[in-house]
Amino acid sequence: MYIGEDQKYQVQEGISFEQLTKKYDCPLYVYDGNIIERQYRRLYDAFDIPSLKLHYACKALTNINILKIVKNLGAGLDTVSFQEVRLGLRAGFEASEIMYTPNCVSLDEIDQAVEAGVKINIDNLSILEQFGQKYPDYPVCVRLNPHIMAGGNSKISTGHIDSKFGISIHQVPHIKRIVETTGLKVEGLHMHTGSDILDTDVFIQGAEVMLSFSSEFPDLEFIDLGSGFKVPYYEGAIATDIEDLGRELSKKFKAFCKGYGRDLTLIFEPGKFLVSEAGYFLTQVNVVKQTTSTVFAGVDSGLNHLIRPMLYDAYHEIVNISKTSGRTRIYTIVGYICETDTFGVNRKLHEVQEGDILCFKNAGAYCFMMASNYNSRYRPAEVLVYNGEEHLIREREDFEDLMAKQIEITNL
Ligand SMILES: *Cc1c(COP(=O)(O)O)cnc(C)c1O
Repeated sequence: MYIGEDQKYQVQEGISFEQLTKKYDCPLYVYDGNIIERQYRRLYDAFDIPSLKLHYACKALTNINILKIVKNLGAGLDTVSFQEVRLGLRAGFEASEIMYTPNCVSLDEIDQAVEAGVKINIDNLSILEQFGQKYPDYPVCVRLNPHIMAGGNSKISTGHIDSKFGISIHQVPHIKRIVETTGLKVEGLHMHTGSDILDTDVFIQGAEVMLSFSSEFPDLEFIDLGSGFKVPYYEGAIATDIEDLGRELSKKFKAFCKGYGRDLTLIFEPGKFLVSEAGYFLTQVNVVKQTTSTVFAGVDSGLNHLIRPMLYDAYHEIVNISKTSGRTRIYTIVGYICETDTFGVNRKLHEVQEGDILCFKNAGAYCFMMASNYNSRYRPAEVLVYNGEEHLIREREDFEDLMAKQIEITNL
């Protein structure tokens, strides 16, 4: 976003946030498809290896149009539920481009994935054993836990010793025993150590651990290093140095492929990196309330639409897009839910008046996707801005949606 010549915040040339909120109302999610493209290319171009594939981790944002944009860029898809698999197929992905990485799902759901023909990533020995007996001819990927403590936020880190994700690298002998007795072919090794990895060394260490086990698996086609790229949520925040990572890892991977005897595909599964920065969440200020110690700006939204700040202390930069100049004051921005739902404390904003529009940045990943109907409120509309054009890509819900699946007992 930037301030245009007309002194209004623009999503892209000629499309201002104000005009979108006038047309579609608040609260509103807006996505800039060209930022997704930019991020995709930046990550792709950072690597210099014969075969690289980026699988968009679509749990971050599954609007069908976003899936189509990443598909057109050449991405595959990383999915964590069979419903995401179905959305991917609906968006036009080939089954072979979809990786299904479930955790603690039933064998029934895995049966569906087999039927759909997608790539399957198995993350526990019990399912691996059952799978191997049932589908000895269906190649699988195995999710390993390299036991590297990565990332600053313990709620979104998955690589530690007690994590429920992945099969411990200490259990590789057990994996091999299952593979040998069932005849299963392991076509890929996978790790995903969680989000917000600050230090590229952690990635490289993880990769080294993975690569060190790969000689145990002679049928590999790919190595999947998951994701966890940290994106900056405010000016000056630390982010994963993608170019540095790409350089270092490309060297390591090429050397590894030489040792392995053939070129494998390297896969990453960026979610946040592709869509976080592309999203904006627009809300209107209902009330400015001064208490003895604080000035609150209360907006027409809450944890029902954007729960990340309350769920794991995520920081979203907030901008008053109704004012681009004048004096600033310090505000605590809160929602309208009957529960404490604080979006941000002590934020410096251009002086807020009731009716102003506040924009939450980095609202592309895990924002709309975690929205709910709590307090029986409607989930917001979504707008996509792409190549200079705006498209409504999801209608705001209405009362009918709240009742849609409820069954009223007639004589109650
Ligand atoms: C959530 C998830 C990702 C994406 O993580 P980001 O931090 O959003 O990039 C990738 N792979 C798997 C298996 C995931 O569960």
